[in-house]
Amino acid sequence: MTETPSKAPSSVPVGVDTTNASIARVYDAALNGKDNFEVDREVLRQVGQVAPEVNDLAWSNRKFLQRACNFLADQAGIQQFLDCGSGLPTAENTHQIVQRMNTEARVVYVDNDPVVIAHGQALLEENGLTNFATADIFDPEQVLSNETVTSQLDFSEPVALLHVGTLHHYLAEDGPEMMRAYIDALAPGSFVAIAHFFDPETPEHSELARKMEDLFLHSPMGSGRFRTRAEIEALLPGLELMPAGPGAAPGLELCDHWWPTGPKLRPLNQAEHCIAALVGRKP
Ligand code: SAM
Repeated sequence: MTETPSKAPSSVPVGVDTTNASIARVYDAALNGKDNFEVDREVLRQVGQVAPEVNDLAWSNRKFLQRACNFLADQAGIQQFLDCGSGLPTAENTHQIVQRMNTEARVVYVDNDPVVIAHGQALLEENGLTNFATADIFDPEQVLSNETVTSQLDFSEPVALLHVGTLHHYLAEDGPEMMRAYIDALAPGSFVAIAHFFDPETPEHSELARKMEDLFLHSPMGSGRFRTRAEIEALLPGLELMPAGPGAAPGLELCDHWWPTGPKLRPLNQAEHCIAALVGRKP
């Protein structure tokens, strides 16, 4: 008689629903990670029917996160980071980048996905200055009162709040108010960095944005709103928006065009036009 396994296989943390896609696992699949299931990869295949370069959109988001962390730790001199929606650990996570610039930088990651929690605690809490908290990132009060967050970060000093690749999964209309609750808690000199699915409102790219949105919303992942420039900029109320490059006007810019590290040797593809980034400073 075959024995019924009493535990889930070790690669599937307990409590993980492998029949429904999760945001963290779909993103992991797009970045060629290994912590995803068929149901997650299927979401990308469906979106890939209209946007074959959908994985590039995820990479544009991730590379923006990395350049923004560099900027915040180096140019802006920020020493405390609250990374909302950490995602699964991958190469070049926030703490690795900012602690390379400043060995004293503190990082608190926040996520609520069971796979991220399982791997995050093991792999992201690499040292005493890096911690992981479980909370709903769309409930600022819950995050800001979380014991790990309050014990690790000093909100009377500047903090960089990262909401990268997260807010398009917040489907309610009160995003600006939700973000204001975070911003109100930050000291002057703090920064907020976001990257967001983008509807560029151009004849070439808006249709693609609408199609991807429709597929994400109706997929087993269930979220992914492509907002316009005005809608995304409204998510950082009261902040001074940073320019996205030398001589650029302050405000939203495509992730790939946000202070790139070198010249782009090929034109952006369609999907790369549908992810944009914004960094603001609290005066
Ligand atoms: N910030 C990382 C990056 O840009 O590379 C990861 C982005 S990933 C697309 C979004 C992350 O947000 C996922 O890990 C997901 O689990 C997390 N997330 C989504 N909704 C959440 C919620 N309500 N509370 C906590 N985490 C959430």
